[in-house]
Amino acid sequence: MNVLVVGGAGYIGSHCVVQLVEAGHRPVVVDNLAFGHRGAVKDGVPFYEADLGDREAMAKILKDEQIDIVMHFAAFTYVGESVTEPLKYYRNNVGATLELIQAMVDTGVNKFIFSSTCATFGVVESLPIVETLPQSPINPYGQTKLDLENALRAITKTSDFSAAIFRYFNAAGAAEDGSIGEDHQPETHLIPLCFDAATGRRGALKVFGSDYPTPDGTCLRDYVHVDDLSRAHIAVFDKLGTPGTCVDYNLGTGNPSSVLEVINAVKEVTGLDVPYEMDDRREGDPPALYADSKKANEELGWVPKYNDITSLVASAWKWHKDHPKGYDDK
Ligand code: UDP
Repeated sequence: MNVLVVGGAGYIGSHCVVQLVEAGHRPVVVDNLAFGHRGAVKDGVPFYEADLGDREAMAKILKDEQIDIVMHFAAFTYVGESVTEPLKYYRNNVGATLELIQAMVDTGVNKFIFSSTCATFGVVESLPIVETLPQSPINPYGQTKLDLENALRAITKTSDFSAAIFRYFNAAGAAEDGSIGEDHQPETHLIPLCFDAATGRRGALKVFGSDYPTPDGTCLRDYVHVDDLSRAHIAVFDKLGTPGTCVDYNLGTGNPSSVLEVINAVKEVTGLDVPYEMDDRREGDPPALYADSKKANEELGWVPKYNDITSLVASAWKWHKDHPKGYDDK
């Protein structure tokens, strides 16, 4: 398949590109490099520096590259920023994405894979989180993702367009060979921040909240490997062959770790101390979030290869220890 990977120079997109090549497909990358890194895209993979909201540019690439399927990884993802700058989030995550979909409709490309998030559920009443729970996001970021999910449900109902929606839990880890990995500017994610604290690139890690109703008082999250996420995107191709299909899957290991468990895994893997201090809760953080991925398992045969925090952290460390400044291109 010829697969357009929009946001293919970003963290999850770049890993998916590698998995696509390994599975015998032909990825083509589009990225505006606002957050992505040119160095994350391997040599030999066609690359276009363009914005997904540029409908004409997207239509031309879709036609020229004879694209069969589009994957969308190009969203803004900072929850805090989405609260202070909601328009930026609605314009990119909703407005620009709809331009991309219009370009697909205009050129007859009708298969779409959309990266959504567990943040579309908001504060849940039961765990683990199954696909059928009500979705009620508590910040503009989650709302923009839910808006797109709803648009896809409506569009697929009335056309031969087909879509797959994947809701990620906490994406983590890096490519097996350590050649690409996580590099966010600014970095807000727990595992890379632990590495920075351990290697002295930052001061002590602040643990956001130690009085949650969890076994050790810190938040529980479901860390899932980027390569496992990527494999689900490829496993869903068959489903998209039926016009008008819209499928959705929650992707996580179902095996959550607390912040303190992540810190301990980082200590164990790196052999370094991770200085940390207890801090106040971060606004908008639910105590526990973890997935029920039975549907992905039963319908796609999806089984995460990395399902313990130590192997995930070890994979992330393989990249980080050799690239402490990431791609160092910003
Ligand atoms: N966290 C923390 N200190 C930090 C960053 C994150 O204690 O400096 C906690 C955060 O409160 C959450 C977990 O680590 O419980 C994972 O946070 P991250 O930002 O990596 O992902 P999120 O769950 O917000 O998508």
